Amino acid sequence: MSILVLGSGQLARMMALSAYPLGISVQAVDVADNKIIDPITKQVINNTLEKLIEEVDAITVEFEHIPEDLLEIVHSSGKLKPSIEAILTGADRVREKSLLEKLDIANCPFSIVTEVEQLEVAVETLGDKLIIKASRDGYDGYGQWRLQHKSDLPKLTEQLAKLDLHQVPLVVEKMLDFDRELSLVAVRNANGDISYYPLAENLHYQGQLHVSVAPAPNVSQKLTLQAQTIFNKLAESLNYVGVLAVEFFQLGDQLLVNEIAPRVHNSGHWSMHGADTCQFENHVRAVRGLPLGSTKVTSTTAMINIIGCNSFTKDMLSIAGCHIHWYGKTPREKRKMGHFNLCADNYQQLGKSMLALSEYVPVENFPMLKDEAKRLLKIGSI
Ligand code: ATP
Ligand code: MG
Repeated sequence: MSILVLGSGQLARMMALSAYPLGISVQAVDVADNKIIDPITKQVINNTLEKLIEEVDAITVEFEHIPEDLLEIVHSSGKLKPSIEAILTGADRVREKSLLEKLDIANCPFSIVTEVEQLEVAVETLGDKLIIKASRDGYDGYGQWRLQHKSDLPKLTEQLAKLDLHQVPLVVEKMLDFDRELSLVAVRNANGDISYYPLAENLHYQGQLHVSVAPAPNVSQKLTLQAQTIFNKLAESLNYVGVLAVEFFQLGDQLLVNEIAPRVHNSGHWSMHGADTCQFENHVRAVRGLPLGSTKVTSTTAMINIIGCNSFTKDMLSIAGCHIHWYGKTPREKRKMGHFNLCADNYQQLGKSMLALSEYVPVENFPMLKDEAKRLLKIGSI
C-alpha cells in the first residue's frame, strides 16, 4: 500500500512515520518543482509524478496551497482525499467564508475587498480595529496586516494598493477581543464515521501558533458539542475524508470559526504522545479506507513549537513526559523547526513540567512558555 502526499514538509514526514508500521509507504512531492522526495530522509527519488499518480493507492495533501493545475491532475486520478473542493476551500478565504455563510456557521464579521477604496467602507461597518488577510497563500500570520486605528488607514491603503486585489481579494475582519482560541481536530472516513480529538487551547504570538494544550481546560460538554456540530456540518457538506481542523475563537459560550485547515494540523501534534492514535495515523487510516483508531486521551499534553532556533541542549529530555521532535530543517526566523510534547497526569503536573522546560530554552523563542506554565499551575490547584 502506498500514499503520495502533495507537499514534502514536516506534516508529510510525520504522516510517513505513522504510516510505516501499518505497512504503508509514503512518498511526497515538492510542489515547487514536482520532484519526488522521501519525506523522512528528504532524498530525491528517481520517479516521475505521472507514474507515481498511477502507482499509488491514495493521494493526499500536507497543505492547502497547491498549484491548481497540479490539483486538477491529481483530482482526475480519482485518488485524492480529501476532495479537491475541500482543499480549494481551505486555500481560499473567500470560498471559506462563503461556505461558512452558506452553512449558517458563526464566524468573524468580515467584508471582501477587491479595491483599496473599499477599505474605508470596511472601517465604517466593522470598526477601526481590523485584521486584513490576503485570501490566498497566507499561513502562520503571513499575508496579514493589522489596522489598530483609523489614522493609520492612509498608510496601510498605500501599502495594499500595490497588490492585485482582483487576483487575490482581501478578507477584512473585525479584530475580535476573544476569550481564547480553540481548535477541533477530527477525522472522518469514507463511510461517514467521525472520531473527534478533544478541543485544544491554542496560544498564538504574532499570528503564529506557539503552544497547544489538550484537552483544553474548562471546556463544558455544551462547548464540545457546539464544536462537534460545526465540524459535522463542514465535513458532511464537503464529503470529507481525512483529518480536518477547525480553528475557533471563543467569546463567552459561543464559538466563532476563524478558519479551517483541510489536513493534519499543528494544534493536533500533541496527539503523537497524548492520544491512543495520533492525528497522522488516523489521517492515513482514513485516506486508505482502514478503520479509524481510538482518539482517547492518554495524557494531559502541551505541544510547544520550536520556532526559529535549534541551538540548545537536549537535556530537557530529563523532564518526565518530555518528548522532542525535530523536523530536520535549517533555522530561519519564525520557521517551525520542531516541537516538544510534554505529557502529564494533570494540569498541575503539566504546569510544573513547562516551568522546568522554560529553564532549558531561550526565552526570546518561547515567549509564552513561563506564563502559560503558571496559568496551568493555577488551574491545576483549583
Ligand atoms: P495559521 O497558519 O497559524 O493558522 P493563518 O496565517 O492561517 O495562521 P489566521 O489563523 O487567520 O491565519 O490568523 C492567525 C492568528 O491571528 C489567529 O490564530 C489569531 O490569533 C489572530 N487573528 C486572526 N484573525 C483574527 C481576528 N479577526 N481577530 C483577532 N485575532 C485574529
Ligand atoms: Mg489559523
